[in-house]
Amino acid sequence: MSNSDTSSIIHAGLWLVATPIGNLEDLSPRAAAVLCAASVICCEDTRHSGSLLKRIGASPERLIVANDHTEHDAIEEVLSLLAGGAVVAFISDAGTPAISDPGERMVRAAIAAGYPVHATPGPAAFVMAATLSGLPTSRIAFDGFLPRSGSERRERLTEVARERRTIVLYEAPHRLERTLVDLAEVCGEDRTIVLARELTKLHEEFWRGSICDAITHARTVEPRGEYVLIIAPHETAQIEVTDELIREELSNRTSRGLSKRDSIDEVTAALGVSRKRVYALAVES
Ligand code: SAM
Repeated sequence: MSNSDTSSIIHAGLWLVATPIGNLEDLSPRAAAVLCAASVICCEDTRHSGSLLKRIGASPERLIVANDHTEHDAIEEVLSLLAGGAVVAFISDAGTPAISDPGERMVRAAIAAGYPVHATPGPAAFVMAATLSGLPTSRIAFDGFLPRSGSERRERLTEVARERRTIVLYEAPHRLERTLVDLAEVCGEDRTIVLARELTKLHEEFWRGSICDAITHARTVEPRGEYVLIIAPHETAQIEVTDELIREELSNRTSRGLSKRDSIDEVTAALGVSRKRVYALAVES
């Protein structure tokens, strides 16, 4: 065993264990070894994870439910197990825990209490989607799920539109069309987007094109399954952004019923100009 090989050492502490996002063969041997060695496994759903654990012959003394609602309550119990020197594994329904899934609070609590934290890295939908998108991967912004509504959603959309890194989002199939329409408004219809669907599963699919065409695609296919959206970074417009163009973009939005403030935000993001300039033109009329 080389110095860098820790494959056979399973230290006491909290282990975040990545599990498959579709194809069960993607569970790493080390992940299986940790799950078999753990005396306690935290999971979102005992039935869902039970079949994975059965498949690899893992039979922990206990399963603790740690989902979005119960993770906080499970912390105290996990900390007392860690105090006794236990190997506690933490898994989510799919992929890497703490990535749009429970895990973050548990890790923070274990670190704060001075217990070791480890991981068996593995599947994460956003990594696979970004690396196969064909878009730049040297700088990536993972933004998880967008807020569903309200000013929080609008603010995040504006940030996405301005982002200079490739942006990766998660989205549910029934909200895909709505999100694409919102993205078109802030990013412009021509921005390149990739829709990565059902990764590692039978119907894995990558769709690549403009946001405008993605909307048509979503309206045609009736989205099903799991989706990751990968959006090309914002590039400073090559065309000259004249005051006339800014006025036109503002008036398009206000005539659609958007408030002055939201119109300013959107136009600022879409044209990549300063908010001060857009504001000045918005208030002059
Ligand atoms: N922890 C997971 C990970 O590491 O990717 C993410 C869990 S999050 C609750 C679920 C979302 O991840 C889905 O709505 C979808 O956007 C994305 N996702 C998970 N598995 C996927 C797959 N096989 N194909 C495409 N997207 C997937």
